[in-house]
Amino acid sequence: MMGPSHALSGASVWLAGSWALDHFAGYEQSPLALAVGTAVCAGGALFPDLDLSGKVTRNQGGATVARTFGVFSLFFAEVMEKVSLGVYYATKLSKDPRRSNGHRTLTHTIPFTVLVGWGTTALCAAYGKWAVIGILFFMFGLALRGLFDEWAERAGWVVVTLASLAAAWFTFVTLPGDRGYPMIGLAVGVGSFVHILGDMITRAGVPILWPIPIKRRMWTMVSLPDSIALRAGSKTEVVVVRAALTVIAVLAAVGLVAPSVLQRFDIEV
Ligand SMILES: [Zn+2]
Repeated sequence: MMGPSHALSGASVWLAGSWALDHFAGYEQSPLALAVGTAVCAGGALFPDLDLSGKVTRNQGGATVARTFGVFSLFFAEVMEKVSLGVYYATKLSKDPRRSNGHRTLTHTIPFTVLVGWGTTALCAAYGKWAVIGILFFMFGLALRGLFDEWAERAGWVVVTLASLAAAWFTFVTLPGDRGYPMIGLAVGVGSFVHILGDMITRAGVPILWPIPIKRRMWTMVSLPDSIALRAGSKTEVVVVRAALTVIAVLAAVGLVAPSVLQRFDIEV
């Protein structure tokens, strides 16, 4: 799947999940919490592809998402790719093929999504709002890059960086006091997990079973069979999948916001 589809899938899963929590468990969130969770989950749904760097020094190549913060995120992606490759070789068994780069390995595993979600939660718990602003800045940047890819491309990374900073700062001053913010960690973790599922329905596949060894392979690539798998960037992905995800997101958002709007209307009348 391509960047915009990943980001969109993160946003719609978060909205649909929030709607289900509200509807079936009576768990309500403020509009701000909803918006922040949705943006963070959209950003989280791009995070695993920060393992694909390009030519850092020439500011070229890499996953689109690796270009979010210019050379800074390209460098980050470079490091992540090398670390992933290191983990691949450290855990590879005799039947795992040799690889020359770490894309779609460590960051596309379930332990990684758990680690990222837990790490985010731990940071928020330890540093409160100061951790929150850093995480939001990072995730908002990824979400902007993913959801508004054409705008981001035209605007350039400096504008994307400034817009993310402004959004993070606004949230920072509006968000109620120190309280740990476990939903932010959850949103990052869920987003990363949704990314893996998205890659799984394309032909390339992901090592979702890692670290379970199967037939002397630790890195078994799992995907849908070629006949039904999506081709990345195909018409089906760009038109059908994105339209379906948008409909889900809009329906969930309306379902979440409409009752409180109606209620307010009742009170005023
Ligand atoms: Zn991926």
